[in-house]
Amino acid sequence: MTVRLVIFGRQGAGKGTQCLNIVNTYGVAHISTGDMLRAAVKAGTEMGRRAKAVMDAGELVGDEIINGIVAERLAEPDAAGPGFVLDGFPRTRPQAEALLEILGNDRLDAVINLDVPLEEVTARMKGRGRADDTDEAIARRLALYEEETFPVLEFFAEKGLLVTVDGLGTEEEVSSRLIAAVNDHLP
Ligand code: ADP
Repeated sequence: MTVRLVIFGRQGAGKGTQCLNIVNTYGVAHISTGDMLRAAVKAGTEMGRRAKAVMDAGELVGDEIINGIVAERLAEPDAAGPGFVLDGFPRTRPQAEALLEILGNDRLDAVINLDVPLEEVTARMKGRGRADDTDEAIARRLALYEEETFPVLEFFAEKGLLVTVDGLGTEEEVSSRLIAAVNDHLP
């Protein structure tokens, strides 16, 4: 069986942990566009050089570039076989439309919205105490997320694919809740 998932979550929602949980449960490939872009920057490829300036400015890399990267990655055997969980993509409506086009007849099983309220993630991130986690930086990142992501969530909700999972609780509670929700959407 091929499992095809997309996951959304605010910074601090525990998306990284849940991606690992999904990978361990379904044996799918974890496809993170942020990780792929950082790898390209590190490798010093032409694309990486161009992406770096955009990422450093906190802007979004162009849809054309990112859609191309994802299309190539999804064609690889691991993603085409066991399946994938997409993390960080799609971030815009044109990207969401491109994804469905790339997949063609292969339907997404579910688009997970790992939901942790704004006040809670703000508190969690302050608790992390990282140098770049000033109140302003946290607020800015979270505001950007709402702006970018809500139209995309709406797009998938209209298609009947959106599954909202309550991200409050212990790691185990959230993990089993999420897997149960995904299982409900598998054929
Ligand atoms: P975050 O730090 O917000 O979790 P990521 O690690 O997913 O972000 O991505 C880091 C940066 O890479 C983003 O700020 C953006 O510049 C770029 N990026 C990642 N995914 C995308 C995408 N789908 N579309 C455009 N830019 C992206």
